[in-house]
Amino acid sequence: MRGSVKQLYEPRSVPWSQVHSWTCNGCGECCKWFTIPISTYEYAKIGQVVGFRMFEFREGGVWLKKRPDSRCVFAFCRGNLWLCGLQNSKPYPCRMWPFKISNQPLYGRRDWARYEGSSWTGYVYVDSRCPGIVYGRPSLTYTTKVVEEFVHMAIGGRRHQYYSTSREALSQTWNRIQLVDTGNSRSGLFRHQGMI
Ligand code: SF4
Ligand code: SF4
Repeated sequence: MRGSVKQLYEPRSVPWSQVHSWTCNGCGECCKWFTIPISTYEYAKIGQVVGFRMFEFREGGVWLKKRPDSRCVFAFCRGNLWLCGLQNSKPYPCRMWPFKISNQPLYGRRDWARYEGSSWTGYVYVDSRCPGIVYGRPSLTYTTKVVEEFVHMAIGGRRHQYYSTSREALSQTWNRIQLVDTGNSRSGLFRHQGMI
């Protein structure tokens, strides 16, 4: 799997089969917990649209900047929800959170983590820190749509998100988003449409 998210806490992964359903409720906590590394491709594509001051270089890599309140510079508030300003072009670690896809069993009972999808068989885990998890017997939509979409992003290179991102984000019709420029503490408006 590409990239390595800098975590403040140890991961607490549970096998996918112990989860009934998952949806992102827009709590925005994950955009505070992690510092996100991005690839050269993501740096070029995102930077073309929003400029290159949203990134920082350290430890031999490129990372999304954080604000003084620890949130990612691309997180913005809409009502009581925190949404992502890079909705159609999130970096890979953001698209995959809170799921982890592996060809090998990683934790606990391997039979609980084994996933047999339409085009791939392997092991799937969900990070228990995400409050969007509902535990129980897996629903049909969760099994065949949600988990499947995460698998296709990890294995097949899928970029478009539908089941794997916030419902609220998908319902928004904005074409301008507000981002905080940490370079000079000014707020700036950047065009959202036209991103990858
Ligand atoms: S993915 Fe989970 S932690 Fe992140 S905003 Fe959605 S519900 Fe909150
Ligand atoms: S890019 Fe979006 S999803 Fe990723 S940390 Fe920033 S606001 Fe959150």
